[in-house]
Amino acid sequence: MHYEINVSLHGRHFFATAPRSITTKEEVRAVLAEFDKVFTEARGFVIMVKEVREESEYLRLDLLRAGLDEAPDPKCAYCGQTPGWPHSPGCKNEPASKQFR
Ligand SMILES: [Zn+2]
Repeated sequence: MHYEINVSLHGRHFFATAPRSITTKEEVRAVLAEFDKVFTEARGFVIMVKEVREESEYLRLDLLRAGLDEAPDPKCAYCGQTPGWPHSPGCKNEPASKQFR
């Protein structure tokens, strides 16, 4: 999470703080106190503060490189068995020699 301070001048975007600039409520209060001295409404500035909540996660490079969005279902497509366990009797993925006749 971070805080973004947006400053507009005469109704147009003037600047905004970078994501890494303000990461705590204490920092946003400290920066805002300084901005309030300089970017006054009397001079045409408007200050807005946004709390940005973000989610992030590391992605699997093997899937990215394979062009996949998510890992393929690890379970058997026919009987739903978890890998490492025997397929249900008659499953198409069961080796032919073990299939029930
Ligand atoms: Zn199966």
